[in-house]
Amino acid sequence: MDSAALRDLLISWANINSGSDNFPGLDRMRAALAAEFATLPGATVEHLPLADTPAQALRIRVRPTAPVQLLFSGHYDTVYEADHPFQRCTLLDERTLRGPGVSDMKGGLVVMLAALREFERTSSHTAQLGYEVLLTPDEEIGSFGSGALFAAAGASRKFALGLVFEPARPNGDLVHSRKGTGNFVVTCTGRAAHAASPTRAGRNAIAALAEFLVGAHRVPDELPGVMLNIGNIRGGGPATNVVPDFAEAKLDLRVTRLADRDPFIARLLALAAPINQRDGLHLALTGAFNRPPFESGPVEAVALAAWQTSARELGLAPFTSVHTGGASDANNLAAAGLPCLDALGPLGDKLHSAEEFVVLPTLAERALLCARVLAKFASGEVKLPPVP
Ligand SMILES: [Zn+2]
Repeated sequence: MDSAALRDLLISWANINSGSDNFPGLDRMRAALAAEFATLPGATVEHLPLADTPAQALRIRVRPTAPVQLLFSGHYDTVYEADHPFQRCTLLDERTLRGPGVSDMKGGLVVMLAALREFERTSSHTAQLGYEVLLTPDEEIGSFGSGALFAAAGASRKFALGLVFEPARPNGDLVHSRKGTGNFVVTCTGRAAHAASPTRAGRNAIAALAEFLVGAHRVPDELPGVMLNIGNIRGGGPATNVVPDFAEAKLDLRVTRLADRDPFIARLLALAAPINQRDGLHLALTGAFNRPPFESGPVEAVALAAWQTSARELGLAPFTSVHTGGASDANNLAAAGLPCLDALGPLGDKLHSAEEFVVLPTLAERALLCARVLAKFASGEVKLPPVP
């Protein structure tokens, strides 16, 4: 595999700004991807309009009637918008490329493409394995537009496994499960009054909200598998001699298992209940989990073992797979019933910052590794268990 060619392809892709809101940039990036993926033998390429966004997804299909079908998932948007100072790649040394999206996940897209090319070139059982590649433009902002594509892919029951090319952990580990995430707002209304009112008529919304938040902040200590972050808080007005009648905080909630969601919300509502019983105060929690948790099962275990065995055969450093709190499109695919292995991209770090980098030799390593596993799926050397 030509490592210099993979590096140069990655530089050309990462130098195209494709921030999630930069629609002309996303179009340019999608055209660049379509040109490369169209060269896979027998590929059909479709540009798919999405709900609620002018950005489009790209779908590439190869051998859609072969007995073993896999779904490849990647996003081509990044967190760096057109006005962000981080726009270009810099080669820090022979092994290290810094640049926007070089790990998350244009590097992953390079690995995916190179793996498929290698598989097509070297396997003698390609006829047994077909695949669909879904490249989407809105992962970094919650995948609200592409959600329907993931739901349909899972519901089709066509695929044995989803492969997601987010970057590997910095130590090389893959990801077999991810927490589900939700965005919630807690609002508190009280009663305005003069701070020195002799009848103490005011009901301080900030004090009541603070009481709730101190309790909410402790919930993850009591309830295993959940996370809660108080992201911001506002309330009151410019004058300190007024009892504030409104305060609001935004929360990031995460759960390891779907079953953790209801007890988590119930615990938060139980914290709000005594505050709501007081005269003149009302506390309300609104919001939703936008990504359900990605929980792993027997298919993921077999897939991980295939990756580990192939790494050993190729003489690559050993790795395992881990649970992580961050969500990805694997959450959406898993929620639709498709088992997934994630973090199949290159090694890198400092994602979502102007220090983001990728370890260049791992582009070819992870591509060869993936191609080897695909060959095992195609030849029947590794059989994936049926989707539960
Ligand atoms: Zn990503």
